[in-house]
Amino acid sequence: MSGDKNKIFKSTCCYCGVGCGVNVTLEKNKTITVQGDKDHPVNHGMLCSKGLNLQYTVNDKSDRLLYPQMRYNKNMPLQRVSWDDALNRTAAVFKTFIDKYGPNSVAFYASGQCLTEEYYVINKLIKGFIGSNNIDTNSRLCMSSAVTAYKMALGEDSVPICYDDIELANCFFITGANPAWCHPILWRRVEAHKAANPDIKIIVTDPRVTDSCSLADLHLQINPGTDVTLNHAIGRALIEAGNIDSEFIANHTEGFDAYQQKVFERTLKESAQICGITISEIELAATYIGEAKGFLSMWTMGLNQSSIGVNKNLSLINLNLITGHIGKPGSGPFSLTGQPNAMGGREVGGLANLLPAHRDLSNEQHRLEVQKFWGGTTISGKTGLTATEMFEALHDGRLKAIWILCTNPLTSLPNARFAEEALKRAKFVVIQEITDKAETLAYADVILPAAAWTEKEGTMTNSERRISHLNKIIDAPGEALPDAEIICRFAKKMGYKGFEYNSMEDIYKEHAKLTYRTSINIHGLDYKQIDKSNTVQWPFNKRSESGTKRLFTNHLFYTSSKRAIIHSPSDQLNSELPDEDFPFILTTGRVRDHWHTMSKTGKVSKLKQHIKDAFMEINPADADFLSIEDNQVIVVRSRRGEVQVKAKISATIKQGVVFLPMHWGKILGSDLNRANNITSTIVDPLSKEPDFKYCAVNVEKFKKD
Ligand code: SF4
Repeated sequence: MSGDKNKIFKSTCCYCGVGCGVNVTLEKNKTITVQGDKDHPVNHGMLCSKGLNLQYTVNDKSDRLLYPQMRYNKNMPLQRVSWDDALNRTAAVFKTFIDKYGPNSVAFYASGQCLTEEYYVINKLIKGFIGSNNIDTNSRLCMSSAVTAYKMALGEDSVPICYDDIELANCFFITGANPAWCHPILWRRVEAHKAANPDIKIIVTDPRVTDSCSLADLHLQINPGTDVTLNHAIGRALIEAGNIDSEFIANHTEGFDAYQQKVFERTLKESAQICGITISEIELAATYIGEAKGFLSMWTMGLNQSSIGVNKNLSLINLNLITGHIGKPGSGPFSLTGQPNAMGGREVGGLANLLPAHRDLSNEQHRLEVQKFWGGTTISGKTGLTATEMFEALHDGRLKAIWILCTNPLTSLPNARFAEEALKRAKFVVIQEITDKAETLAYADVILPAAAWTEKEGTMTNSERRISHLNKIIDAPGEALPDAEIICRFAKKMGYKGFEYNSMEDIYKEHAKLTYRTSINIHGLDYKQIDKSNTVQWPFNKRSESGTKRLFTNHLFYTSSKRAIIHSPSDQLNSELPDEDFPFILTTGRVRDHWHTMSKTGKVSKLKQHIKDAFMEINPADADFLSIEDNQVIVVRSRRGEVQVKAKISATIKQGVVFLPMHWGKILGSDLNRANNITSTIVDPLSKEPDFKYCAVNVEKFKKD
């Protein structure tokens, strides 16, 4: 803090997983301004367009939900009620369903934007006291393929690198990611590194020419869905050139022989044809990787959001393993997380298939440890419903009640019209929200107003395992409460003991205690220590107060053999393939200045200037064939529905492929703009992450009836 007039607080940007540090000034008139924190190890004072405009999302309270609302039946309008009335009724309904249909008749659907303390209490409530594992979050839509692959390859879901590896790497393999738009501050570090060291090599793999390609020495513009084939082909080329680390493979991995057999199943010529690139491009990528002293692979949704997302991840991690580029400076497989605290959710085990601190839900001993610690009911070994499964279960009546917080699934889930119908059919819907614009509110039986960023205290963990402490800076408007407090009040109404916390830090300390003797270990870490070190990377111990920069520096992995596993995944795609009726491949993604379903960025006029309206990108040859002109309204249809947007004709996208941004829905626009009206419900069989990057569609000019 400084001066008498304005107070300055440290916080962390609440948008992406980069986790930039910000200084928030509380002005005399109770509004805030935001600046990059020059002392922060992530961003050194820099902020991207979203971060620079954070204050507008908080200062504008015109859309905020201010008090609880409730209705006694679906035909009644919602009415203002007290917190006690809202939570008493919700507890009574939950108890009735649990008694009548069992604990799996209720579910919580949360968000990678929740704070760690919030995640922790929701997870404890449903798994440890209600006795169901029906908790999932929108992180399922984002990085669950990476979680599964890390666990399969390294033994646990552990990101091995730190951001400082960017300045130490001399080859970047950026695949299925557009960090120039989606992780801008990390990208600026890559840009600065390349400017200072022009010899470093940057390979970008993407079916589209994105802004990240502007820095690439090599852009592999592969056909959608062919990532595993490409990664295997690069693996083969590395082996053929002798550019692998045989000593590391022999001493610290298992599975190489089967892998070698697998990657030699296809010739480079065959792989190049499948991927739609040349053999020499594959060989050049292998040369750049093979000759690098530091090799950093970076990826995100292009790999994760796929019917074979786990296989794509595994095939990429293999490239780090066969070259020995892990656990050393400038090297490692680095999954960029999309959301600001997806990592915190992973720490507390806040998904349907996880337990706290990387314990295994299928391991009875692990379940007993957590059960004893929480002192609640028996923790079930059965995986709960994942994101898309929850809505299927609501649709067919297996699930009676759902509590949705901090996320807007009717824009973000695949096949959104189905999700809408599912909410319509649900017996009881609780929506814990900030904005009165969320599409889910139309289906709510109870609405609980939540506090927003800067209105509550807690912690978040960014993509490099860096924990930061966010201060409460201003009061929430009206009767809105912090999410963790709402959950704890509800738990007490249910009659559960163990939710009598005096502060958010009490929750944090309990979470930290549960990590003792696990790979995460933050036991003994409190807010004071995080503040003292500015931020801390887990695992933490008192000898190293800022935590641990890199994992696996001793080359001992978390598997039972202590060796990393080189898997041999299939490259067979399970997606909905194009055919005569639906001849185009649809892929979806983000734009630079918007975030998720635009409940925050949609309030900021500066951010709406970059790209004003929803659009569909199409190659000029395809547009010519369909007689479509630039900016003309078109209809994109799949077997599930349609989207009406303007065409953007661009040679940056491959022929036969079209692209829709994922942000637009009712918050800014209409549900006709919503990309997820048409996306596929196919999910990866292991991670259950949806196939947002591939489905079959057709396109035509919009005709008025
Ligand atoms: Fe916020 Fe991400 Fe931008 Fe950093 S890069 S300012 S965390 S949106």
